[in-house]
Amino acid sequence: MTETAAETRGFQTEARKLLKLMINSLYSNREIFLRELISNASDAIDRLRFDALNDESLIADDPEFRIVVSFDKDAGTVSIADNGIGMTREEAIEHLGTIAKSGTEEFFEHLTGDQRKDSALIGQFGVGFYSSFIVAKEVEVLTRRAGQGQEEGTRWASAGEEDFTVEAAPDLPRGTRVTLTLKPDATEFADGFRLRSVVRRYSDHVGVPVMMAKEEYGGEDDEDEGDEKGDKQEPALETVNAAKALWTRPRTDIGDDEYKEFYKHVSHDFEDPALWSHNKVEGKLEYTSLLYVPKRAPFDLWNRELPKGLKLYVQRVFIMDDADQFLPLYLRFVRGIVDSSDLPLNVSRELLQEDDRVRSIKNALTKRTLDMLAKMAPDDYGPIWDEFGQVLKEGIGEDFANKDALLGLLRFASTHDDDPKQRTSLKDYIARMANPDADAEQEGVTGEGEDEGEAAGEGGDASKPKGSDKIYYLVAESDAAARQSPHLEVFRKHGVEVLLLTDRIDEWWLSFAQEFEGKEFQDVARGELDWGGEDGDGEAGAKGAKDDKQDEPVLKRIGEVLDGKVESVRRSKRLTDSPACLVLGENDMGAQMRRMMEVTGQSVPDSKPHLEVNLAHPLIMRLDQEPDEDRFKDLVSIIFDQASLAEGNTVAEPGAYVQRINKLLVDLLAA
Ligand code: ADP
Repeated sequence: MTETAAETRGFQTEARKLLKLMINSLYSNREIFLRELISNASDAIDRLRFDALNDESLIADDPEFRIVVSFDKDAGTVSIADNGIGMTREEAIEHLGTIAKSGTEEFFEHLTGDQRKDSALIGQFGVGFYSSFIVAKEVEVLTRRAGQGQEEGTRWASAGEEDFTVEAAPDLPRGTRVTLTLKPDATEFADGFRLRSVVRRYSDHVGVPVMMAKEEYGGEDDEDEGDEKGDKQEPALETVNAAKALWTRPRTDIGDDEYKEFYKHVSHDFEDPALWSHNKVEGKLEYTSLLYVPKRAPFDLWNRELPKGLKLYVQRVFIMDDADQFLPLYLRFVRGIVDSSDLPLNVSRELLQEDDRVRSIKNALTKRTLDMLAKMAPDDYGPIWDEFGQVLKEGIGEDFANKDALLGLLRFASTHDDDPKQRTSLKDYIARMANPDADAEQEGVTGEGEDEGEAAGEGGDASKPKGSDKIYYLVAESDAAARQSPHLEVFRKHGVEVLLLTDRIDEWWLSFAQEFEGKEFQDVARGELDWGGEDGDGEAGAKGAKDDKQDEPVLKRIGEVLDGKVESVRRSKRLTDSPACLVLGENDMGAQMRRMMEVTGQSVPDSKPHLEVNLAHPLIMRLDQEPDEDRFKDLVSIIFDQASLAEGNTVAEPGAYVQRINKLLVDLLAA
């Protein structure tokens, strides 16, 4: 059955591209190859340790797990050997010749050709085994799978260009030995001092001993001697790293750098994490967790099916990657480990799903993560919000128990600030609601009116309408569209702040959120504005205001023209500058949700908007006096279509709209 012949195979196209890119773009950070190979070795050992729980014979011949790093200065080689799970010939071909990673396609789509940007991306993608080729002109992998016979080993070799060879290799020990023949400009790594320092820097947290040959002369001045250390004749080994799983150590003993390196090990991320939380819980349930929030969202953040979750350990034994039962889906960007003392070693994904202990740990880890985010300084949280805010919004619809905590984490663009990049929290919004002049006072307005606390003359509190005690928001396609919306006119006039929402899931999560800290959410484009006593009829109010009875004829006339297109035509309390706007019924589906459902081919409930008309607007006043019935109809159609455009919708018959406008222009120019 065993294939013995040497065989040459081409790298998968993506693998080839990745190799090339890596070699070019990671040049300035070459030493990470060692971290990546030790990380792989340690994973291989973790996996064998796990398999051996059920079948001790797998490790009986060599039960002491270890990783050995060696070098040969003369030959210019560095080797990393582990006695972990090893690979079969098929596995070597599959794992070392292709990229099995999810998101590979997106990854390549994101590449820009700009080396600096691309190297950050590649780090995020995870470099792994291929990082060998940053320093090596040739890589040889000798590997034998645990449980396979002595004769069934495999040699894999490649110069990292187009192809690799595989052939049978007898008499290999269990596990994998990767030997790099260094490029001429990377021979500095064939050096005990250099390797030791890189191992300590990057791999101190690895739970397995990383061993090197004992240095004979104290190690201080051995770098320039080039003394033949004869690592071919089984030199005495010493452990170079701390070899204790990082999370089992007390927090006070662990430096930030160690936490950061450990993060890179578990996440395969290249960048430092944004923050982390390390906790040991004792009592009814005993477990340790170490959770990290990355700096950047992965490419595949939007694919809810992709691998996510924590590395699960039970009593320090690695059990599985991507254990996604310990965090809710909307926290799928969190990385880290959980080590439980209570779960059985033979726990499976199915069992995790049903286990009450797992559920309790999940609840605690969810709270801990939200708490860690809530405690961040605003400046630090801003970038995290930009990366992960949209996923956090999913939580509002999915995690009822933590809804308030999640609402507290939301950030919004708002009419409070013209800069769309400035974000506000709901807490800030509510604070300004009570004291809308807070900012103005800081800017020195206080001097003018000494009557502290009293309404400050014109603007501000004095004209703030009763009943505006809600969290007002507007949903639009873009920030620019939101800021130009006619729905904001009356809010601007009265200095009432409105949150501007432009994420595609905003209407969705809002359907799960009725209030925050006792303040109701209110869509400004929906329902009747119930501000007591205010008519909002604008600057021309005194002149143009008519009482409701007198309004009826023109509203009714408009209604007849728009029959079938609108639910009703009514007098507006929200416009100051625009002639009309479309308003949704309190329970109608919003435009965003409607579009989303249409795109996904779902049937959308039938509902028509209300047309609200600004009776004080010159156009409406003129319209009211239009004797020519045809012209009246044209004007009404134009006003309706424009109201639709202002909502970010299209008009039903663009050609007819353009014709009507042109007719008006011709009349105007002829006059
Ligand atoms: P990653 O580790 O992110 O999966 P790599 O490119 O580093 O990606 O490795 C690809 C695969 O090759 C690993 O997932 C593993 O299956 C296999 N592999 C790499 N190194 C070893 C090793 N030392 N022992 C056993 N398998 C290994």
